[in-house]
Amino acid sequence: MTGMIKNAKLIHICKSTLMCPLCKSPMQVVEHKSLMCRQNHNFDFTKHGYLNMLTRPASSAYNKLLFAARREMIVESELYMPLHKRIAATITELGLISGHPLLIADMGCGEGSHLQTILHECTYPDITGIGLDISKEAIMMAAKKYKNHIWLVGDLAKLPLMDRSVHVILNMLSPANYKEFNRILTPDGVVMKVVPRPGYLKELREALFENDGPKTYEAGHSAALFEKHFRLQDVIHVNYTANLNKEEIASLVQMTPLAWSSNKTRMESFKHQDNTRITIDLDILLGSKT
Ligand SMILES: [Zn+2]
Repeated sequence: MTGMIKNAKLIHICKSTLMCPLCKSPMQVVEHKSLMCRQNHNFDFTKHGYLNMLTRPASSAYNKLLFAARREMIVESELYMPLHKRIAATITELGLISGHPLLIADMGCGEGSHLQTILHECTYPDITGIGLDISKEAIMMAAKKYKNHIWLVGDLAKLPLMDRSVHVILNMLSPANYKEFNRILTPDGVVMKVVPRPGYLKELREALFENDGPKTYEAGHSAALFEKHFRLQDVIHVNYTANLNKEEIASLVQMTPLAWSSNKTRMESFKHQDNTRITIDLDILLGSKT
């Protein structure tokens, strides 16, 4: 179902920033309803205002329940609040140094709550957010709730964004495509990649698995790969614990794919606690163009 986009600022940014993923030519906004490129490839704004810019059907391993739990944790609990504040402070500082409007793209944004919360915390006045994810369900949830950003269903390997158009790329605990990130980043732009460190959610892993569970990430490896594509300016280490109540514990299990492969009995006993402390242990890798 098609819809209308009426926010003049967002229309302007769509026109100046988005690129046809099929032929890579610039796009025009037609009658507030769709985007069309020079070769007449057409993408309609949906009823909720997002654009589906995938060039082929894609499936995501994550479902609506996971995204709902993720939103609950990001918006309602305090689990990620210090992380959001730290990222927002860095973005605000970048804005004040540059003095121009900032375009921030969250690559692999899920249902959009990290982007929304971070931008809400930024005190720099002129920032526009773009959220992109391969999951249509996630982007639909984002667009329904957060109206002031541009939401795109898209492929990391074929970003529908112009060369040198984005000032800050956020990539939080999700896969990257550094070649494409490099292409869309402005010459003075910054990439902020959030990677887990060994203590991340350790209480959950210790409770669910005998040997700490599957190693889903290697922070050292992430940093080394990052440095092959960007000049590493800084590594901001973020470490704290947060207290979760019973509902939040259930949401945490629901939003964490590694929990799905765990022993059911162990999972149930973890979920039956009235509250627990959870460790957040992350690095923010801050990179610029080489
Ligand atoms: Zn085209």
